Amino acid sequence: MAESAAQQFDVIVVGAGFSGMYALHKLRGQGLKVRVLEAATGVGGTWFWNRYPGARVDIESRDYGYSFDPELEREWRWSERYAAQPELLRYLNHVADRYDLRRDIQFETRVKAARFDEGAARWTVETDAGESFSTRFVIMATGCLSEPKEIVFPGAEDFAGEVYRTFDWPTDGVDFTGKRVGIVGTGSSGIQTIISIAPECQHLTVFQRTPNYSVPAQNHPLTPEEQDKWDAERESYRARAKSQPLAFWNDPPEKNAAEVAQDERIVEMERRWNYGGFRVGFPFLDTGVDLASNKIAADYVAGKIRQIVRDPGLADRLTPKSYPFGTKRLCIDTGYYDVYNRDNVSLVDLRSEPIERITERGVRTSAREYPLDALIYAMGFDAMTGTLAKLDIRGRGGLTLRDKWAHGPVTYLGLMIAGFPNLFTVTGPGSPSVLTNMVMSIEQHIDWIADAIQWLDSNGHATIEATEQAEHEWVTHVAEVADTTLYPQADSWYMGANVPGKPRVFLPYVGGFDAYVAACNDIVADNYRGFATA
Ligand SMILES: Cc1cc2nc3c(=O)[nH]c(=O)nc-3n(C[C@H](O)[C@H](O)[C@H](O)COP(=O)(O)OP(=O)(O)OC[C@H]3O[C@@H](n4cnc5c(N)ncnc54)[C@H](O)[C@@H]3O)c2cc1C
Repeated sequence: MAESAAQQFDVIVVGAGFSGMYALHKLRGQGLKVRVLEAATGVGGTWFWNRYPGARVDIESRDYGYSFDPELEREWRWSERYAAQPELLRYLNHVADRYDLRRDIQFETRVKAARFDEGAARWTVETDAGESFSTRFVIMATGCLSEPKEIVFPGAEDFAGEVYRTFDWPTDGVDFTGKRVGIVGTGSSGIQTIISIAPECQHLTVFQRTPNYSVPAQNHPLTPEEQDKWDAERESYRARAKSQPLAFWNDPPEKNAAEVAQDERIVEMERRWNYGGFRVGFPFLDTGVDLASNKIAADYVAGKIRQIVRDPGLADRLTPKSYPFGTKRLCIDTGYYDVYNRDNVSLVDLRSEPIERITERGVRTSAREYPLDALIYAMGFDAMTGTLAKLDIRGRGGLTLRDKWAHGPVTYLGLMIAGFPNLFTVTGPGSPSVLTNMVMSIEQHIDWIADAIQWLDSNGHATIEATEQAEHEWVTHVAEVADTTLYPQADSWYMGANVPGKPRVFLPYVGGFDAYVAACNDIVADNYRGFATA
């Protein structure tokens, strides 16, 4: 009897990254019985898994931390302008200790299914170890970038050397000294790995399918004076950041490119380049919506690549040409293009010589074989939907989420899905999520969910669910806003284009964090417009 009886909870949270940890803290504080189920052996989510060399946040550390508790903010000091993975993981462990979170987190527990029982208005959540939990609410804090893409090259299992994936790098690190190393993929993770390991490899061969725009972070250790300054202005800074489309301060431009004289445009681009980070991506108001304006920024960065990389042919191959600037996630680096001036680094352009197969000795392209001692896959993620689609989630009438999303994800606000009462997604498709400082988006979502649960309880409702109509209207709005921008012109993971067979849909909401928060608040003020309760 005890073996099959489901354990009873108010809320089951899946995932113990930034989202799941805050959800636990917040909802436990509301007197709810909460259990977090996490596949990993520790907290941290993204920062638990992605331990590859050079892994680092790409927005400033001052932004990328919780804001819900001023005490927590005051007591934590970041050592660099952009924190590296070990420090981020230390921070998240500190948060887990500080709020005594671990006692309600069950590690090494992978959820495989969740089923809604309409009669009881409760969910049954099952793990792959056969455990079962009965709960009123489910919060999928499973992450937007937590399902790595499959390695699909023929012969992948034949390779006799060492194989690594950036997503689940060995905890003890890897020594590449004296080795011939190959890396497939030049997105953010690939670029950070390449920069870090190039000096130690005997030779590093980079296999590039699509070049990415990468701009300097201008990272540096923080002096005590800078840290004091951050502390002193924290409250006003946070308020200013939260009023922004990206949920961090990006020095928003005030003019369209056409309103700026040519020499001033260069001055402005240079100013942003020297400051570093995502500011380079937004020099003019219309960079993201107007091709001519976009080309000014693209040409500027292409010029920088030519300046840095000594071999003009190589510089050309590293320069993106097939999509507008900023429509694939901008990479933020420290010394990326300069790596290609090293004698021990070479670039293979997979557009001109595609990979045919992985062999026992290395990688064979249509041109030749590259013998390797180690091969690294930095191939990105089945973003925003991959982790959820893998689960067997069944709502009303046995409707599976996989079927519901067969032609692309549909949600209301990226928070709820019609047919799946009391199941919440955090930073789900249709919310600003990956186009923002994620920690602010996560906090906003968890606060919204916590308020909704409180509202349900104080009004005597058992369930809340998005209506089909509200969901349809929101999905239409998300697509319309995306279509006013240049984003859909890129074959990006934002579009699902990096995963073969995935529906081509612009996944995040590009209307901006500020507009999105206003929409959420307005819906709540209007008695949770678009949600049905029972
Ligand atoms: C390399 C990398 C760099 C990034 N850099 C930035 C950045 O600079 N700025 C930014 O804003 N965002 C960045 N992100 C996005 C980052 O994912 C978010 O900022 C944030 O960490 C997400 O937190 P989360 O808790 O929502 O999800 P995650 O951190 O992904 O945590 C999800 C957790 O759910 C668990 N899980 C998933 N499925 C199951 C299951 N079935 N059963 C049990 N557990 C499960 C996973 O193990 C994981 O621990 C980056 C992402 C990556 C991969």
